Amino acid sequence: MSKYDTLKKSAYDANLQLPKLGLVLFTFGNVSAVDRAEGVFAIKPSGVPYEELTPDKMVIVDFEAKVVEGTLRPSSDTKTHAVLYKHWHNIGGIVHTHSTYATAWAQSQRDIPIYGTTHADHLTVDVPCVPPMHDDMIKGDYEHETGFQIINYFKDKGLSQEEVEMALVGNHAPFTWGKTPAKAVYNSAVLEAIAQMAYMTENIKADAFRLKDSLIKKHYERKHGPDSYYGQ
Ligand SMILES: [Zn+2]
Repeated sequence: MSKYDTLKKSAYDANLQLPKLGLVLFTFGNVSAVDRAEGVFAIKPSGVPYEELTPDKMVIVDFEAKVVEGTLRPSSDTKTHAVLYKHWHNIGGIVHTHSTYATAWAQSQRDIPIYGTTHADHLTVDVPCVPPMHDDMIKGDYEHETGFQIINYFKDKGLSQEEVEMALVGNHAPFTWGKTPAKAVYNSAVLEAIAQMAYMTENIKADAFRLKDSLIKKHYERKHGPDSYYGQ
């Protein structure tokens, strides 16, 4: 028994969703779940296949990425998660995958243009692609810097992490987050769908039209506005 059992279970459940949703291959990808009161988060151990995961294998880590409880090594992306939790106080879960379509956009270093209402139901701007980091950052504490790379880019572009719960890291892959680990996983699946649709749209019509502002506003507000009524 551990006082972190509930947190570990919540991270475990969310991690198992990734292979079920077809978002990961082998051990790629990880989900973490935070406990703000305790100042820790639970994250997948490094290199453990999803079918061998159990709740008690989850590693408890603080916001400095120091292991608080657990015998296995935490995911190699732990420092990125720690930085995001430390600086973005209102997020409850983080997901990192190398899902195919979202990663293809990241590798192309392109934002995903807002082409349709599926996209607009979730965010009103292009999915941001954070440019690859400078060499001195890569040589330094790489995973730690990845967190700052995302945070600084959002700051520079005036993006809110509450409005935009996803980002592509250039030449790498996506990170998503949300108020809960389950919402972060949902966002990861939504991002993959949006990425696939946008890819196909450009294949059918290279100069496809972006969604009109009036439609962006309409779709976003019916889901998030004061009079929201969306639910399929
Ligand atoms: Zn990665």
